[in-house]
Amino acid sequence: MTGFDTRAIHAGQEFDPTTGAVILPIYQTSTFVQDRIGGLRGGYEYNRSGNPTRTSLQTLIASLEGGRHAFSFASGLAAEDTLLRTALRPGDHMVLGNDVYGGTHRLIDQVHGPWGVEVTATELSDPDVVRAAIRPGTTKILWVETPSNPLMKITDIATLAELGHDAGLLVVVDNTFASPALQQPLALGADVVVHSTTKYLGGHSDVLGGAVVLNDDALAEQIGFLQLAVGAVSSPMDAWLTVRGIKTLAVRMRRHSENAQAIAEHLVGLPAIERVYYPGLPQHPGHDIAARQMSGFGGMMALALAHGPAAARRLAEGTHLFQLAESLGGVESLIAYPAEMTHASVRGTPLAVPENVVRLSVGIEDVIDLIADLDDALGHLTD
Ligand SMILES: *Cc1c(COP(=O)(O)O)cnc(C)c1O
Repeated sequence: MTGFDTRAIHAGQEFDPTTGAVILPIYQTSTFVQDRIGGLRGGYEYNRSGNPTRTSLQTLIASLEGGRHAFSFASGLAAEDTLLRTALRPGDHMVLGNDVYGGTHRLIDQVHGPWGVEVTATELSDPDVVRAAIRPGTTKILWVETPSNPLMKITDIATLAELGHDAGLLVVVDNTFASPALQQPLALGADVVVHSTTKYLGGHSDVLGGAVVLNDDALAEQIGFLQLAVGAVSSPMDAWLTVRGIKTLAVRMRRHSENAQAIAEHLVGLPAIERVYYPGLPQHPGHDIAARQMSGFGGMMALALAHGPAAARRLAEGTHLFQLAESLGGVESLIAYPAEMTHASVRGTPLAVPENVVRLSVGIEDVIDLIADLDDALGHLTD
């Protein structure tokens, strides 16, 4: 197998056989002509069941995650929903990290909950706590997000995969924050990887998408069936944009990691900052595990402001290069106030994000400009 950076550019990306176009076309079509009844060309029949542009994306993502099967969806949550409905039935229970993407918790708790799925959101860093949350015979999924959102908790994937398998669970890892360029959960023992490809894989804040990647043929067949039956697939245009983004994933992730490390080291110890949550800092509680299971620490971090929620809000509204917006993982830097933005749906619950926290998605601009932007906004906190 060729190296990661090579596969990011070439896996699933054969040139167009009819014209020689180097780049695979956007097959912007809803249906495909049949040579005779059932005589499909390349297996393509109708855009919900398959499209060559989507196939090229799925082949690419499968290759980068080291999985046999990948399915591409219209959003990360559509991918998660299809996986959950494939693997769970009413009465089943799942164990979820207590610091996951707010929309994931909302989907499970507020959408799947009324259909009879039960969930325990818990701390995943302590294996004993995880074991205690598992209900033998009833728990079916252990769902891990690492690094987590927004507090950058690190979970030991190999340890939890073993623990989950001992209890007969399907072990799922949301790999959105790290991307396969930095972390490959299937190789660490996870059964399924899910992605919001909206974030680092797309990489340019211009497309929504999601993916499910796995090795198990039987489960893959069921997921493929539900995707076909329900239809939350990526459009050809979205699939094409995501492929285009992924080609630079490896170089982008190296630069995101470099910039974030420099910013974290600059901010730590400043009087306005109570705490920097970044796994690249040696004092981060998950630093050693992250150093073992990731090949870089990524571009995401959270900051707790020393002077409380008002200071956090002011910082989030006071930067210029760091634009105030939801989402993450694009080339441009973003800042967010999780308590009222990404994590508004868990506000007031035990899963709420502290109100003095802001989240940074560090882009690939000149780091000196990013630091100046933060310093400038921090200097105006008490105006
Ligand atoms: C954004 C995000 C999702 C949801 O993906 P969408 O593409 O927005 O539906 C899931 N998990 C994580 C970690 C995310 O950041």
